[in-house]
Amino acid sequence: MPFRQIVGHRRLVALLARAAAQDRVPPSLLLAGPNGVGKRRTALALAETLNCLEPILADDGSSRDACGTCGACRKIERGTHPDVLVIEPGETGSIKIEQVRDVIDRAQYRPFEGRRRVVIIDDADALVPQAQNALLKTLEEPPSASVFVLVSSLPDTLLQTVRSRCPRLRFAPLLPADVAAVLVRDHNYAQADAMAAAADADGSVGRALSAQAADATAAREVAQTLLAETARRADPQRRLESAKLLAATKGSSASERDQLAACLRVLSSLLRDLGVIASGADSRLLANADLDTELERLSSSWDADRSSRAFAAVDRALSALERNASPKIVADWLVLQL
Ligand SMILES: [Zn+2]
Repeated sequence: MPFRQIVGHRRLVALLARAAAQDRVPPSLLLAGPNGVGKRRTALALAETLNCLEPILADDGSSRDACGTCGACRKIERGTHPDVLVIEPGETGSIKIEQVRDVIDRAQYRPFEGRRRVVIIDDADALVPQAQNALLKTLEEPPSASVFVLVSSLPDTLLQTVRSRCPRLRFAPLLPADVAAVLVRDHNYAQADAMAAAADADGSVGRALSAQAADATAAREVAQTLLAETARRADPQRRLESAKLLAATKGSSASERDQLAACLRVLSSLLRDLGVIASGADSRLLANADLDTELERLSSSWDADRSSRAFAAVDRALSALERNASPKIVADWLVLQL
């Protein structure tokens, strides 16, 4: 992704674009700032700009950007460019000394096909101390064609000796409108959903996405519980008790209406899967394949006929919500139909 497509951080990006145009990019840099604001992307954009085969130069030569489409740009985007190396924590959560030694060894040689070798160390604060020490000498006397970019949301936990060798670029949280723009452009959000998610994300795309994942997980649990309870309980009063589950996901920041809509969408996906199981079709067709054991258990109460009637009821409930019906009335009506 070229510099011009980075959302927010205009001043920092302009600084890098200017340094690239004047061939003055420091051999080591520390991109510091909160998680999920685009630091790693900016590091990759710098790598693209330095290695692009058809770079775009400003008329007065004051800035340089990547084209985003040449062979080099595309390889960097896909993570297959031999001169752009990204290291990050492995399963243990830390970056081991071997990973660092490996990139240091490779950085001694001239770039294979690019102009500059760019080594990006993401979550650099995860470098174990020995790895940081191993890196020191290279940061002090970097090989001529190499640039080391450390990316960190906890820069002050790096060894002082490492910090002092890397000029620091400070990334601020994004504006809510910028978070929303990234959610729409890169994560297929509808504009209204993106604005709602961005409002509560402290300027971090990563945070908006993980909050949504947490809400989705909660919605799935609620939908499963509801299917299990309504299968057991015919008594309307007790069913209405279950309706309370629907619009009360714990710890969620979404409105009652949005929570209910999210639960209903999950419910309809689970009911469709129960229909698949009832028809004896291949379980690989399940949308919620990871829940196959739970679905199998529910399927004894949810045969094809009941699943499809419930599916239609959920559909009607969703339309009623869209027409602004009260979430409580919709939830109460629905549990009596299941
Ligand atoms: Zn290019």
